Amino acid sequence: MDCIFCKIANKELGTELVYESGSVVAFHDINPQAPVHILIIPKRHLADLGEISPEDESLLYEIGVAVKELAAKYQLKDGYRLVTNCGPAAGQTVQHLHFHLLGGRELGWPPG
Ligand code: 5GP
Ligand code: ZN
Repeated sequence: MDCIFCKIANKELGTELVYESGSVVAFHDINPQAPVHILIIPKRHLADLGEISPEDESLLYEIGVAVKELAAKYQLKDGYRLVTNCGPAAGQTVQHLHFHLLGGRELGWPPG
């Protein structure tokens, strides 16, 4: 399978990882939409949240820990947003589960 985020997680592309734990890595989005725009992904390939299974119970906890640690590392004390786009109507363009961590500016609501 030719998945760019699997390659990043496997360290095949030399993308700087800003966070890594047992099952998770995070890196800067190549096209940032905010001063801080980090993608948090499972190392294991899942297309989107629709593919999670009971074996991923600890994975979702690990992603929560990653969010907490990255929010502290990047000083997002005024707030941040965590987004995952699932499917074409939501604008998902990479079919490997990822969470956008956005911060460093005022974020409008509702999102587009
Ligand atoms: P989606 O639209 O699927 O929710 O988000 C995919 C995100 O991945 C986009 O924000 C896009 O800029 C980012 N992206 C796509 N390819 C690469 C890449 O090769 N490296 C990095 N760092 N980000 C990427
Ligand atoms: Zn993948």
